[in-house]
Amino acid sequence: MKSELEAKLGEEFLFMRMGKTVHEQIEEYGKIKDLYGAFGCSCGDGWYELLRSMCSEIVSAYEQEGIAVDIRALQVKEKFGILWFYHAYTDADEEISALDAADGLSIRFQPGRSDFHKKIDGIIEKWETKSANVCMSCGKPGKLRNDLSWIQTLCDDCYKKQ
Ligand SMILES: [Zn+2]
Repeated sequence: MKSELEAKLGEEFLFMRMGKTVHEQIEEYGKIKDLYGAFGCSCGDGWYELLRSMCSEIVSAYEQEGIAVDIRALQVKEKFGILWFYHAYTDADEEISALDAADGLSIRFQPGRSDFHKKIDGIIEKWETKSANVCMSCGKPGKLRNDLSWIQTLCDDCYKKQ
């Protein structure tokens, strides 16, 4: 996603603020500790509004519950044409190294997560599912395309351009 759009998300939602670059992290920690901080949203610009709606719903849920926002974005990317929003809550000690190995499953179904955090997980899952119907390139209604060089979710117009 364009860096201006990532910056806009970070301005609106604190938990979407990016962090240190890959270079800075390697220099400081000897490894990449914060994938989201370094890479931001690894998806097309078409999902900006989708991400924005998801973040608004998350923040509203915290407000309704009267709880301070404690979610952290670990990695946000497009994979197999859908959105994957890996996340954790600041009180949980979770390592990003588990992400790709387990595709986030170990994180998502971690026991001991509060009912409220499970509710937030549910909101995220709902928007991840919705992403399969939103063109990742322009944001118009789209569908999964399995016949391109890699699986993408595109509207008819963007599909024809491929
Ligand atoms: Zn499109």
